[in-house]
Amino acid sequence: MANRPSSTSSDRDSGDLFAGELPEMSRISVLLPLPLTGAYDYLVPRTLSAEPGDFVLAPLGNRLVVGVVWGPGDPDGVAEKKLKPIDSVLDAPPLPEANRAFIDWLAAYYLAPPGAVLRMAMSVTAALEPPVPRTGYVVESPDVILEKEAEGVRMTAARKRLLSSMIDRLPAQASELAKEAGVSVAVVKAASDAGLLQRVAMVDQATFAEPDPALPGPELNEEQKIAAEALIEMTSAHTLNVALLDGVTGSGKTEVYFEAIAAALEAGRQALVLLPEIALSAQWLRRFEDRFGVVPAEWHSDLTAAQRRRTWRGVAEGKVKCLVGARSALHLPFPDLGLIVVDEEHESAFKQEDGVHYHARDMAVVRGQFAKCPVVLASATPSLESIANVESGRYRRLVLPERHGVAEPPKIQIVDIRKDKPGRQEWLSPSLRTALEKTLAEGEQSLLFLNRRGYAPLTLCRTCGFRLACPNCSSWLVEHRFARRLECHHCGYSTSQMKNCPSCEDTDSFAACGPGVERLAEEVAAFLPQANVEVVTSDTLHSPFQAAAFVDRMTAKEIDIVIGTQILAKGYHFPMLTLVGVVDADLGLNGGDLRASERTYQLLQQVAGRAGRAGRPGKVLLQTSNPDAPVMEALASGDRDAFLEQESAMRQEFGYPPYGRLAAIIVSGPDERAVEDVARDIARQAPRPDGVQVLGPAPAALALLRGRHRRRLLIKADRSVSMQKLLANWLLSIKAPGQTRIAVDIDPYSFL
Ligand code: ADP
Ligand code: ZN
Repeated sequence: MANRPSSTSSDRDSGDLFAGELPEMSRISVLLPLPLTGAYDYLVPRTLSAEPGDFVLAPLGNRLVVGVVWGPGDPDGVAEKKLKPIDSVLDAPPLPEANRAFIDWLAAYYLAPPGAVLRMAMSVTAALEPPVPRTGYVVESPDVILEKEAEGVRMTAARKRLLSSMIDRLPAQASELAKEAGVSVAVVKAASDAGLLQRVAMVDQATFAEPDPALPGPELNEEQKIAAEALIEMTSAHTLNVALLDGVTGSGKTEVYFEAIAAALEAGRQALVLLPEIALSAQWLRRFEDRFGVVPAEWHSDLTAAQRRRTWRGVAEGKVKCLVGARSALHLPFPDLGLIVVDEEHESAFKQEDGVHYHARDMAVVRGQFAKCPVVLASATPSLESIANVESGRYRRLVLPERHGVAEPPKIQIVDIRKDKPGRQEWLSPSLRTALEKTLAEGEQSLLFLNRRGYAPLTLCRTCGFRLACPNCSSWLVEHRFARRLECHHCGYSTSQMKNCPSCEDTDSFAACGPGVERLAEEVAAFLPQANVEVVTSDTLHSPFQAAAFVDRMTAKEIDIVIGTQILAKGYHFPMLTLVGVVDADLGLNGGDLRASERTYQLLQQVAGRAGRAGRPGKVLLQTSNPDAPVMEALASGDRDAFLEQESAMRQEFGYPPYGRLAAIIVSGPDERAVEDVARDIARQAPRPDGVQVLGPAPAALALLRGRHRRRLLIKADRSVSMQKLLANWLLSIKAPGQTRIAVDIDPYSFL
């Protein structure tokens, strides 16, 4: 800790002759990373100097909290003699002005406490402290497994996994290695005790290999060149400019925005790429490495504390030149941001649904504005929001209409499962079965897509009809047969499989209803026993190492049929994958969500895009019982723009986003009566100016979530209305007693 002050009172008592003439302690406002109403004023002792953006330790109650100097204090605020002095200024790079302005903007737009937004930017307080040496582990010989086995050292599967993930890897801490290999930290320590790993002392150098923009990229085709040149020009402009890079899957969007990254790097500035699911983007990282010679820095929830610390500091000190991350990367303290790319910009994973509700795609544009840097939004299925911004002239559109090289777009065929019926307790139609057989016979790979983890979404008792439900949520427990457990997908509640029905106590009376990916695997194994089948979900791929291993198995053709959820829908490029079967194309259409059709279109188009990405033509079968739904027709005909026009005409007609404003108010708490009372109170006080409609309160679809009862109100307003002002004035006088909470969701994406 730097500049620890001597106590202020002893300063005064030191008999300094000029005491009366020295400047008074100055008054500053400090934002603390806590959900308070705003920044607090503090005094700066004369021994310290604190500039806006500096990280400081400030007293709060009887503890010291790290905060950020937000600006001068308010001379008309709390009386000076009541203010406390800050304790010290930390030896860390200040939070840049653009970040501070961004925090204020985001907080005001989403009606969130600025301190809660700051907390997202300060998720690593350890980064603000000086480094300490740590113990690392390394494997010395690539043949370690064979050698040690020969010496008679016990080689468990976990140890093998650990060692093979560590070969050729730089030393790292036990927690980091354990996470990568999917083993426990104890395995790492025991392997070290057994002499399989060597211990080394690591001092945090915080060096980052720099990506080299001068390395050659692929020769771009004509359309790619035009798009890349436009992006390069934008990147050199040093001002906010937004481009929608709209290109079918496989058209080379990544290659094109890599050119913009190269331009930012050449200009000596930093580049940030947001991906919806960074932990699983092993292929993306490899491509980056192919293009720029090194892997970029990463930012996501799977990083260890040490990696976070190093990366946060590397970004703040300008040493990290390119970072790829999940939405939270937007809050990192880049001092010189030259480009932001949001890949798969239409993804709802960019919307944060807990804590501060915000949309990282929208906020990337705001961040770009404060950093004076261009923003590239890339997608094969752009959101209606971005398209509306193109149409109003705010964003520029760059189009890549064709797949690169010989790859043709896959043929999408609708399978009407009311006619082309699967067997009893089966989910694959005869035509999908035939296609799977044929693909297998030709030595090619298939993907079966079903967006449902586990074995079955519902389990009921055949004797009494009792359904197994989560005790904390309004939802069914999902059977996970591989793991022999029942799980709630909303709160994570998990219990072992039961033998007796909790209601009628009958034994072995449970029946699975409906398919999950595990059940589908059973069906495939029964009818194609010779095929190598693998199930891939967030349950099976939970580390980048596992994701990379899966990519290798696919590429080496060790898998014939992969069955997976949406984590397989994005980004992957497997040249031998020629058949995609969508088992239940209707799954996302239920629920009455405003964006149900749009999302179904995006998701299915994305999944379809996995087929036939190299020389071999791809084929996609969509199983549906709504073959006439506009979204199915659009998928089959490939007429995306007609579908989008129809969707946007509908939204326009009813005043839904992006043509109108929406906000949700969610009241929740453990006491149902209290929740109901607060929700009614809110409704009673609802302002009803022109152009504003208040719907509800109504029990949420998830009326009980994690043990909290929930009521929702939906506010619909014309674009001319300031939703923020309206809500702020409205909710000001509402009191929420006890543990009842009122959450506001501006531009909601989830209506559950
Ligand atoms: P998208 O991001 O639009 O889905 P990608 O950038 O992933 O498309 O490109 C699809 C495949 O085509 C990748 O394997 C990529 O390396 C290759 N590719 C794209 N453009 C070129 C090019 N100009 N030269 C060589 N390969 C290319
Ligand atoms: Zn639950």
